[in-house]
Parts: sequence; structure tokens; C-alpha cells
Amino acid sequence: MKVKIDADLCTGCALCTDSVPEVFQMVGDLAEVITPVVPADQENAVKESVSDCPAEAIIIE
Ligand code: SF4
Repeated sequence: MKVKIDADLCTGCALCTDSVPEVFQMVGDLAEVITPVVPADQENAVKESVSDCPAEAIIIE
């Protein structure tokens, strides 16, 4: 599973970086993906972040 963040949509709320710091980190005012290929043990947490992101900026494929 791969994940990316649409920087045009991210509002920098830091919800995803707080929830899954293994995959997301804040860079300046926006979140970025550290591990584009999601580690298997983080897949469920990343899926929750997709649901929780208020900007619908997290995309999994
Ligand atoms: S939860 Fe969504 S809007 Fe908030 S920092 Fe993460 S990607 Fe950006």
C-alpha cells in the first residue's frame, strides 16, 4: 500500500502526524509522507488517518 498527501489540500492540522508519526511528519506548516510505501504494521493506522483527515488530503493507492 502506498500513501501520499495532496499538499494543495493539507491544512497542516497535524492530526496525521500525531496519529502515525512513523509515516507522516510536519515539514513547515504541512504534513509530508516519510515512508511512501506504508509498512505493513502501519496500514490500518494510515487508513484511519485517511478517514480522519479533515481536508481529505491523504490518498492511498
Ligand atoms: S490530517 Fe490531513 S490536513 Fe491534517 S496535517 Fe494530515 S494531511 Fe494535513
